[in-house]
Amino acid sequence: MLTGKQLSTLLALLVGAGLYNNTVSAQPLPEHTAMIADGVYAYGPGNGYYSMFVVTGEGVIAIESVNTEHAKGLLQAIAQVTDQPVKYLLHSHNHWDHSSGGQVFKDAGAKTIAHAEALEWMKVNIGRDMVVPDEGWSGNRKDIRLGDTTIELHYLGMNHGLGMTVFRLPKQKIAYIADIVTPNRVLFTIVPDFNIKEWERSLEEVIELDFDIAVYSHSNLPNAPQGGTKQHVVENLQFIRDLRAAIYAEIKNGTHPMKVPDMVQLPKYKDWAMYDQWLAMNAWRVLLDGHMGPFPWRPSQANPE
Ligand SMILES: [Zn+2]
Repeated sequence: MLTGKQLSTLLALLVGAGLYNNTVSAQPLPEHTAMIADGVYAYGPGNGYYSMFVVTGEGVIAIESVNTEHAKGLLQAIAQVTDQPVKYLLHSHNHWDHSSGGQVFKDAGAKTIAHAEALEWMKVNIGRDMVVPDEGWSGNRKDIRLGDTTIELHYLGMNHGLGMTVFRLPKQKIAYIADIVTPNRVLFTIVPDFNIKEWERSLEEVIELDFDIAVYSHSNLPNAPQGGTKQHVVENLQFIRDLRAAIYAEIKNGTHPMKVPDMVQLPKYKDWAMYDQWLAMNAWRVLLDGHMGPFPWRPSQANPE
């Protein structure tokens, strides 16, 4: 590991040699914006949410509007990077805390798009800061091409929310992943609206996708704005499995199942964010899933093949 001083010396050398990309670009990056690769940026204003945008040569594709305030900041960041218009705003899934703020992008002339399952939910459960997307797409895969850029939209079936889409830039090998992976943090509170078994299956499928860097909608990595790697998908999946194993080991030891969530410890993850605060809630959710069967669930005709 480099010390802070060594790191700044190294950066100074790289800057001097013209090798450090962020500092040799014509303009400094906008506030709260990180460059992930040439033309690919992450935007995270410190509200716990990261968006991604891609400058293609014939317009911009943005992912995740979050809410009006976030969307306005995202749009401003885009305008500071390029004069190109925003052509698409893509929603990752239905939940209000991710898919609000779409009007900002509609007003900017972008087409807003969500998976058909998310779209249907959003029509019926419109949030205070939400507008119904312009367009839905169905099935498991859609590609959008703009300029020299292709972005793949992958629907992996049930996992979290409705219409959850994992995005991949095949040329740059960059993914955008919302909610189903959060690096260096235990599962979210009571693990709301996750079908845990299907989530595990989905994560196995995400691991099979070809990407080197992922921008995660939430991240507790020290260098979170720069995104994470596939290793973080692997670690999140392992956490679910380690938690389940710890729950059943405790039951096997004779602990009453209703006492298990408060007993479970996973020291391997003690440095992950919210370990002390949320581990018992996580354990309740995994325990109940094993007790009652998977929930939420829906019949397959909701998404005809
Ligand atoms: Zn969600």
